[in-house]
Amino acid sequence: MQTQLSPSVRATPAGRDAEPILRACVHCGFCTATCPTYQLLGDELDGPRGRIYLIKNLLEGEAATRATQVHLDRCLTCLNCETTCPSGVKYHHLLDIGRQHVEQAVARPLHERLLRWGLRTILPYPHRLRPLLWFAQRLRPLLPAVLRDKFPPRHRPVVSAALRPAVAAVAVAASSVQSRDESRDKSRVECSLGAYQPRQSCRLRQVIVLDNCVEPLLTPATVVALERILAALDIQVMRASGAGCCGAIAAHLAAPEQAKLQIRRNIDAWWPLVEAGAEAILVSASGCGAAVKDYGWWLRDDPDYAARAAHIVSLAQDPSEYFSAEELVPLVASQSKRLAFHPPCTLQHGQQLPGQVEHLLREAGFELLPVQNSHSCCGSAGTYSILHSTLANQLRDDKLQTLEVTDPALIVTANVGCQTHLQTATARPVVHWLELFDPDG
Ligand code: SF4
Ligand code: SF4
Repeated sequence: MQTQLSPSVRATPAGRDAEPILRACVHCGFCTATCPTYQLLGDELDGPRGRIYLIKNLLEGEAATRATQVHLDRCLTCLNCETTCPSGVKYHHLLDIGRQHVEQAVARPLHERLLRWGLRTILPYPHRLRPLLWFAQRLRPLLPAVLRDKFPPRHRPVVSAALRPAVAAVAVAASSVQSRDESRDKSRVECSLGAYQPRQSCRLRQVIVLDNCVEPLLTPATVVALERILAALDIQVMRASGAGCCGAIAAHLAAPEQAKLQIRRNIDAWWPLVEAGAEAILVSASGCGAAVKDYGWWLRDDPDYAARAAHIVSLAQDPSEYFSAEELVPLVASQSKRLAFHPPCTLQHGQQLPGQVEHLLREAGFELLPVQNSHSCCGSAGTYSILHSTLANQLRDDKLQTLEVTDPALIVTANVGCQTHLQTATARPVVHWLELFDPDG
């Protein structure tokens, strides 16, 4: 695509970053076919190609309008389009640039400003969210439906013993591991740490776990499961004092300075632990994982943080990546359980890890039922399900139909947002896959 950015834009970092992204787009429209908002609304401007044009026009000097803002707002940032695009267009970086541009030029209606301010001011801070959640859970029946859905009941059903398979423990006897893959035995070093043989040596293994935000409050079983699995593997969790929200909420709400503050704060909090030997930063919410893996982009022009941000990105892993290198074979894998897996967009498109969790589940003996259109979004998308509840609920209902048609025992996913959003419209348990491997659950 040819571009003629206005001189004032071209001179800015945003203009310099946007130009090659725009030029990479050959406006073939392949991305439009997989865009959920285009499929629902049928408007070119509610698809990726149309949004790219809108942003191009803005950066070339066209005045930003409320209509443009709405079209950009409606994007789920599901990144289906990036997976589909044959030209490798980094759409989400362009969208961030476009949204920030419009945000500065177009005043939002008061109720929107208040809602977005409330979301940015409360959700990323557990000490603010916790009391709100406490009240909301007790007043749940009195809340408007859109808010009621966002607050899970006080005792969210987790994976029950009846649903839990015989793979009750991830920890497996070393002899079982050895029998599975004799060829690796020779290279293993005898280790007294526990049941598992570490990948390379018996040195103390330590990881950082991102656990300071919404997930521990809304779906606490996920973080608990992750920490128990790590304990079973004799991997120590390092505690970072001062870390918090990954920054995704502020970034999605076109508040880049708040997002950068949160990112820098996390880097400062994690850095001493990285220097002390943390081998990975594990992020069990795939939405947050995708955000952390974008830290390099966010701080690319910050001379004090760019290098450290890039190093943090190299350490960030979804647990499905981290555990894929382990010998995580359950003691008993024969009992099959019927699951429908919903791969979050942030896992399959954002982090480009399609099939990773599915592989671990199958290895553990679960039966993964076929799910049509598994590439498409469930409508959660961070705060999208609050800000655009009609579209979000349509996508959720479509998604549940495809997930439930085979009558699975439970629905499994990998992100707190998808989990809570899907759970609002089904009685079937929706769980994070880590819960299925919780040795003490
Ligand atoms: S698929 Fe890629 S190159 Fe084609 S229109 Fe979409 S973004 Fe542009
Ligand atoms: S991120 Fe998702 S909703 Fe947004 S344009 Fe791409 S496919 Fe459509």
